[in-house]
Amino acid sequence: MSEPIIDEDELNDWIHENLETGGFSAWVNITKWDEEGLRPKEIQVTLSYKTGDGIDQPYGDTPPDDSIAEALRNAGFDVEFDGIMHYGYYCPKCEENLHYGEENYDEQEVAICPKCGSELEEELGSKWIYGYKTIKLKGMETAEEIKKLIEKAIGEVV
Ligand SMILES: [Zn+2]
Repeated sequence: MSEPIIDEDELNDWIHENLETGGFSAWVNITKWDEEGLRPKEIQVTLSYKTGDGIDQPYGDTPPDDSIAEALRNAGFDVEFDGIMHYGYYCPKCEENLHYGEENYDEQEVAICPKCGSELEEELGSKWIYGYKTIKLKGMETAEEIKKLIEKAIGEVV
């Protein structure tokens, strides 16, 4: 009985121990095998970016969504967003961000700007940003070559 040349656990351990993934978590799934189930034919690379900590406190003052999504798309990843992160308020007239607690309220309990009295917009982002990329293989690649392809796909984003 032959063994597969590599499996998901080996690849994910290797990613974890060897690759610099910046602010992302990275992992792979083997989504297609050859007929014998020995060589991967297709690998999906997932990069996930969490925009805040466990209690939904965002890491930044403004949502990083656009720049992260752009970096992923430029590297050929499909992008998905999940969850909602609250960043505070934005006054469209003053063009300023406000932290929660700095706002005032009108008689209708609508949040308004303490400087100009304009109605505030709430600044929202997503909690997680995911990028997915499928690597198609010929089924001839060695484990080492597969790792190189994964490293290249992740390296184009990070
Ligand atoms: Zn204002």
